[in-house]
Amino acid sequence: MEFSIRSSRQKDILDITDLVGESVRKSKIQDGICLVFAPHATAGIIINEFEPNIKQDFEMVFDKLFPAASYRHNSIDDNAQAHLKSGIIGSERTVPVDGGSLLLGTWQRILLCEFDGPRERRVVVKVVGK
Ligand code: ZN
Repeated sequence: MEFSIRSSRQKDILDITDLVGESVRKSKIQDGICLVFAPHATAGIIINEFEPNIKQDFEMVFDKLFPAASYRHNSIDDNAQAHLKSGIIGSERTVPVDGGSLLLGTWQRILLCEFDGPRERRVVVKVVGK
């Protein structure tokens, strides 16, 4: 299964939990594993609280970890920082499926991190189990 979501800023964090949950429900799997994968080289997936302040804190820390610099890739399309963030943070997460739903902690949400937007992003969801 797959869905699309549009980021509205150059750097953005989008809550995709409900869209992933819908894919899990459609799969009819009750007990298993849900893989959430962004097929992109300049986006990432994390799991955490979705709240405006922590969202801004994440964006600040991502920039501190991957500061602007004269990266060699910038001579091609000027988005090396976005590639580095995506490569290190990762483009997939796995969540248990229990009772037909995502088994997440009270404050956990599945978040798509946009590092080179705004643009349309695809998210692939694979649910396996019984
Ligand atoms: Zn590039």
